[in-house]
Amino acid sequence: MELSGLQIFKDLPAAKKAEHTNCKTCGFPTCMSFALKLAKGGVSPDACPFMPEDLREKVSHALKISQKTIKIQDIKIGGENVLFRHEKTFINPTALCILLDCDDRNFKEKLNRITDFEIKFLNKTKKVDLIVLKNSEHISTPPVNNRTISFEEFKKLPLTILEDKEFEKTAQKLKFIREKAVKEKDENYSNPVCVHFMSGGNSIQNFENLTAKASFYLCKYANMLLFEDFNEEMFASLMMLRENIFTDPQKPLKVEPKIYEFNGGDENALIFLTTNFALTFFAVAAELEKLNRPSYLIVTPADGMSVLTAWSAEKFTAKMVVKTLKDYDLASKVKTRKIIIPGLLAHMKKELDAEIQASNLDFEIVIGTIDACDIADFVKQF
Ligand code: SF4
Repeated sequence: MELSGLQIFKDLPAAKKAEHTNCKTCGFPTCMSFALKLAKGGVSPDACPFMPEDLREKVSHALKISQKTIKIQDIKIGGENVLFRHEKTFINPTALCILLDCDDRNFKEKLNRITDFEIKFLNKTKKVDLIVLKNSEHISTPPVNNRTISFEEFKKLPLTILEDKEFEKTAQKLKFIREKAVKEKDENYSNPVCVHFMSGGNSIQNFENLTAKASFYLCKYANMLLFEDFNEEMFASLMMLRENIFTDPQKPLKVEPKIYEFNGGDENALIFLTTNFALTFFAVAAELEKLNRPSYLIVTPADGMSVLTAWSAEKFTAKMVVKTLKDYDLASKVKTRKIIIPGLLAHMKKELDAEIQASNLDFEIVIGTIDACDIADFVKQF
């Protein structure tokens, strides 16, 4: 368990109005400033000779690392310090890796499928994280589009490797190791954990089973999954799941505020407007892509809040909309003069029109649909 600065402070001399209050022996002007620094691991508990022994022990335990972080080229795994994502956040996404034998007679074909594979999510391109090459000395040039490592190097990584034989046993072992690391900070269990799925053929049934098991291990508590078989659907599913697990629950998912173009937005394109809340963005973007006509989507900065939340938190105001239109210099990009806003913001039309007029911008606000799925019908009648 982590300790906050306040939790530490309440047992220091200043909080107890005891002798040595703010004595500066630790090098800090007050007990409070020392406590705050200590909570972040920026100073040793030994710097204060007047700290009660039980607090010193608690702090020393809290400052111990739960799980080591290891770096493989530019990916990091491990470093986790909670059992449940909602406690704080999971830190380093589970790496999705493939073990490939360079002596396999279908090596080239398998390798091409793996290196060609990619999916896009939240404007990021996702590929297989790492290809582990067995007998890599038998190939002249390693693949260039993915990270690769030889099996020999892989075996030297400070990883705990679990071979997946029985689901229940593997799941229990993963839980046991993470609990030992997080609750007890037991150094014997501080290595990141890799679950290795041995080759099991390529039947659809196997991949369904494999995807289900791997999904569970990804949530609880594998830091790396190493497969010997590759399947695009399985990797895509795991990557999407991972995107949702390894996010900070305290931070809304957001996209970059800017103008997005669909179907080659041109000067006669339709113009839509929303906030930078990722879920809204992707729902609207999917519909605009399907329209088969050019459109722009103006995404306003709103700290990743949905439209109504942003409006109630004053992150979506008429002034901000006008500023966005000016910042993006929309008037010079399009002849279209109608901006379609989400139906949920219908009550803002008058205010928006007035602010636009007052700013000498030649745009008119049109109330769009409440649900993104109704955009196509709305556009037909527009
Ligand atoms: Fe407070 Fe201890 Fe620092 Fe003195 S040495 S100021 S008692 S924290």
